[in-house]
Amino acid sequence: MPAQHGLTYVWRPVPAGRHAFAASALDADPRWPVTSYCGVEAAATELHDRTEHEWVRQGTCMDCWRVLARRRR
Ligand SMILES: [Zn+2]
Repeated sequence: MPAQHGLTYVWRPVPAGRHAFAASALDADPRWPVTSYCGVEAAATELHDRTEHEWVRQGTCMDCWRVLARRRR
């Protein structure tokens, strides 16, 4: 698994909100859809080159947050 600062997941703002994705999704083929921890699908290209405006505009997905909080126990 590719380690990004030791994390196994990344947060990214996509059109449907700011969701958490497996870190491996960053290496996914851009033509393929990737699925967040809460089940939202986004194009793999949506995980790259996000602007500060997109980060601010999208709210954090609480479903993803809960999934990750449970995993850390
Ligand atoms: Zn989510």
